[in-house]
Amino acid sequence: MYDLAIIGGGPAGLTAAIYAARGGLKTVVLESMMPGGQAASAEKIDNYPGFPQGISGFELTNAFYQQAINHGAEFIFETVTKMDLTETIKKIYTDQRTIECRAVIIAAGSKPRTLGVKGEDTFHGRGVSYCATCDGAFFKDKKVAVVGGGSMALVEGEYLTKFASEVIIINPRNQFRAPQTALEKAQNNPKVRFIFETAVEEIQGEEKVENLLLRQVKTNEKTNLPVDGVFVYMGTQPNTKFAVAYCQTDDKGYIITDQLLRTNVEGVFAAGDIRNTPLRQVATAVGDGALAAVQVEKYLSSQDKKEK
Ligand SMILES: Cc1cc2nc3c(=O)[nH]c(=O)nc-3n(C[C@H](O)[C@H](O)[C@H](O)COP(=O)(O)OP(=O)(O)OC[C@H]3O[C@@H](n4cnc5c(N)ncnc54)[C@H](O)[C@@H]3O)c2cc1C
Repeated sequence: MYDLAIIGGGPAGLTAAIYAARGGLKTVVLESMMPGGQAASAEKIDNYPGFPQGISGFELTNAFYQQAINHGAEFIFETVTKMDLTETIKKIYTDQRTIECRAVIIAAGSKPRTLGVKGEDTFHGRGVSYCATCDGAFFKDKKVAVVGGGSMALVEGEYLTKFASEVIIINPRNQFRAPQTALEKAQNNPKVRFIFETAVEEIQGEEKVENLLLRQVKTNEKTNLPVDGVFVYMGTQPNTKFAVAYCQTDDKGYIITDQLLRTNVEGVFAAGDIRNTPLRQVATAVGDGALAAVQVEKYLSSQDKKEK
């Protein structure tokens, strides 16, 4: 029996684990992949305080992980498939075990939104990628497309010029929703080219990606863009599959919490990118993790008082 089960070992879950374990709670983190979450795949994090020269996402989140272990948090690397939150003692299920705990922090973050076009699944890992840091080096001296209209498309597109001979950023809208600095950096890079108001209709190839079929959104004119790879940065969607039976979500599927990060289920909190928050960043996920853990401590001590 654990005091607290944290679902997800990204910045929010790891910070919650540091606070909770340090506060003396018997804490377990369930993580389906490796610790660090999405932040671990960021080539460089420039906006997390304390690192004036920036820091690699892996290095930063690995330090979070080590700190959580040092404070006594336990880790189980399995995927949570469902929960039973009907009783005071909550049950968390993976394919291999059932964990019982007195409180839960859901910090399972989000995953990239897919384009949903023909060829995307077929060529995933064969030219279609959602992570420039993970896969960029496979495209040395190749021509790649980046799809998206936000700062991630610009930043990751610019990063890909380290490897690729040309990076074409395809924006479905007529302008970017991004800080001016990110836009200027990409605009000033001679390897970057932009295509606006254009959607990817299909990803084509034989064994791997060879061509994108594009559609101009206003004229519907279709064109071909021969490329060796395509990186998709169309935003994210929350990892809530195991939680939706119990937790209220907003119209985009993010878990609704109050200011103290409580969900609609007593003893169940949500932190980080998975909740309906106006900013999804490492700094905000870390802040959420700390707040959620402290609220769990308060919740558990009020439960203890009730039982006495
Ligand atoms: C390429 C990239 C670059 C970025 N750059 C920056 C940046 O420069 N600065 C910045 O502040 N932010 C950046 N971000 C955003 C930042 O990474 C996120 O805001 C942050 O990681 C959110 O933390 P989180 O803990 O809420 O969620 P996540 O990081 O998404 O972590 C959630 C964790 O939960 C796990 N999980 C999911 N479902 C389950 C399940 N069913 N069972 C068990 N585990 C599960 C996942 O494997 C994951 O490890 C970047 C993101 C990406 C993808």
